[in-house]
Amino acid sequence: MQNLPWENELARLAADLVRMDSRSHLSNIAVADRIEAELDGFEIERLDYVDGAGVAKRALVAHRGGPGGLALSGHMDTVPATGWTDDPWSGAIRDGVLHGLGAVDMKGAVAACIMAAKQAPRATLLITTDEETTKQGARIIAGQSKLAQKAGLAGIVVAEPTSLIPVRGHRAHIAFTATAEGVQAHSSTGKGLNANWALIPFLVEVKAMFERLRNDPSLQDTAYDPVFSDFNLVVDNHGTAVNVTVAKATARIKFRYSHKIDPSPVLSVMREAARANGLTLEEAHEGHPPELPADHPLIRRACAITGEAARTAPYGTDASELQAIAPCVVLGPGPIETAHTPHESVALDQLNRAVPIFQSLLAG
Ligand SMILES: [Zn+2]
Repeated sequence: MQNLPWENELARLAADLVRMDSRSHLSNIAVADRIEAELDGFEIERLDYVDGAGVAKRALVAHRGGPGGLALSGHMDTVPATGWTDDPWSGAIRDGVLHGLGAVDMKGAVAACIMAAKQAPRATLLITTDEETTKQGARIIAGQSKLAQKAGLAGIVVAEPTSLIPVRGHRAHIAFTATAEGVQAHSSTGKGLNANWALIPFLVEVKAMFERLRNDPSLQDTAYDPVFSDFNLVVDNHGTAVNVTVAKATARIKFRYSHKIDPSPVLSVMREAARANGLTLEEAHEGHPPELPADHPLIRRACAITGEAARTAPYGTDASELQAIAPCVVLGPGPIETAHTPHESVALDQLNRAVPIFQSLLAG
């Protein structure tokens, strides 16, 4: 098949973005500048902020044309380079496949959004960062972007990898951190206090909650696979040796729930179990889980354009935050299978197929 005029440009831009290291703990401003350079003729809004670690970050909103259309959205940051043996930032293209950290999640998709927007008379782009960590970029766009407000958006396409199948809803999470304090001493002296003795009865109640989530249909949602909520536990004694009483014991739990599930029974169990055992409990809440009915106009349009039936997904995206601006559908190129792995890649064919789909969505 003859290459379309923009296909080489798309591959080049996607590879350029992969070659820039923008793991979430680093500044993404160089990537934002590279994207902005593509957007001649667009009104640009830069939303600069400093993240919790003091690192300079930038979210970008770009718009042209009248109000009332759709926005395309993606994130500039990536997960850490855990396990990579090849160069994570090679941006190498072999046999029509782009390799590297962020290739499918989601710099390839961001490049496809830009290519579609550049060819559309009316388009908005919401380009975030810190999606892989705190969703702060999306939260700042939702809370502060004057340009996104002015665009009067009818909907948002969050272009995370779905193999170009519309996702109408996904789970959001609450991250709990429970901390028990002890007194550090040589364990032989009897002078210390081991923090684990306060953590253990708390964990017994956490385990009972985990089992309720697995077994109680009233806490489950049959529109999702799996039907039960994730409630993953990580316990940490911060490297204490076995002849030292544990000064600090931490339990972290990630609870993911869908739109239908009321998180308050879980919240009250966790708060009460922490209080009863003298633990401090921190909670980091994402936005509410987004979900649109299968017959919502945005979902019907995405299904008509792609020829696919809408699904739900167990993972989270910026839609948790961006739904405050307009209804969201998650729809983007590439399967999620290689995302967050040390052999991440995306087929250029998926990126090429995304562009006309995004253009049809923008044209509505
Ligand atoms: Zn992503």
